[in-house]
Amino acid sequence: MKKYNFNAGPSMLPREVIENTAKQILDFNGEGLSLMEISHRAKYFQPVVDEAEALIKELLDVPEGYSVIFLGGGASLQFMQIPANFLIKKAGYVNSGVWAKKAIKEAKLFGEVVEVASSAADNFSYYPEIGNIPTDLDYLHFTTNNTIYGTELRQDIDSPVPLIADMSSDIMSRPVDVSKYTAIYAGAQKNMAMAGVTCIIVKNDMLGQAPRELPTMIDYRTHVDKGSMFNTPPVVPIYSLVETMRWVKAQGGVAEMDRRANERADILYAEIDRNKCFRGTVSENSRSLMNICFVMNPEYQELEKAFFDFATERGMVGIKGHRSVGGFRASCYNAQTIEGVNALVQAMQDFEKQH
Ligand SMILES: *Cc1c(COP(=O)(O)O)cnc(C)c1O
Repeated sequence: MKKYNFNAGPSMLPREVIENTAKQILDFNGEGLSLMEISHRAKYFQPVVDEAEALIKELLDVPEGYSVIFLGGGASLQFMQIPANFLIKKAGYVNSGVWAKKAIKEAKLFGEVVEVASSAADNFSYYPEIGNIPTDLDYLHFTTNNTIYGTELRQDIDSPVPLIADMSSDIMSRPVDVSKYTAIYAGAQKNMAMAGVTCIIVKNDMLGQAPRELPTMIDYRTHVDKGSMFNTPPVVPIYSLVETMRWVKAQGGVAEMDRRANERADILYAEIDRNKCFRGTVSENSRSLMNICFVMNPEYQELEKAFFDFATERGMVGIKGHRSVGGFRASCYNAQTIEGVNALVQAMQDFEKQH
């Protein structure tokens, strides 16, 4: 049976990305060696990292003066690496969910942290309004898309202080004004690649200002200076990232990804709002285009497992909501198809008819 992959991360990738990466794992560029067994220093691999960097710069229109680096450790390592490199005295954080809270916890190890906005009191069911941003902050950190709660801030805010964003789950899904940011980081496993690599876009002239000695691996300058080759980079994940970025480019770039994301989300939210069995969990103007969360309407609450089984039988994968929200979450990253969304909508409609 055909499977429709709604996993929140690691998540769906375009089929051709998987096939092309698999081919290179078997025989890299016809060299008679696997991508898994070549030296990252070999002449064949440097062009891969160079292309990864160039494609990200092209797709996001990254201005001069920024570097793109690839590291291990996930977005979770960035929760500490960001303040280690950029927190001088005081940083502002938007508390919009679980990932933001984890970032706040790490930042507190390096200096003063103020919560500039929070939706914690309402179980993060909306994206908190970022009102007056204090001007004495070293930076303002926010999570553009809250993967667990299904809320998103899909625009680049104006700010008197430099912005730093965790874009793990919506990077490459819309155009971004990178010039507003000191740093953008993303665990690649939602929208850019297989798991195992983290992408960081960093403004070079903001580096080296923090008043602390940094361990070599934690200092972004180490990786900027060596073009992500200070130590062995995650070779296969970076290759899969290149394939995914080639795909994004061939499809029409981030503007087209944005159009598709809106198209998919419009279809699914319209059904959630229409169907008597379900309701959305997020206030309308905060709704994420990437992670679409919904629960059973109260009078159908006892049918939650029944719908899960019904949808699973029809090939839906990964629609169970995160335990802190419950219900369902359909993740619709770049590779998600209209066909997948329509299959889920059809399942919701057929389920409704039965009850
Ligand atoms: C998945 C996710 C993370 C954690 O990423 P890891 O690479 O597993 O550390 C952080 N932030 C957001 C917004 C995420 O979606």
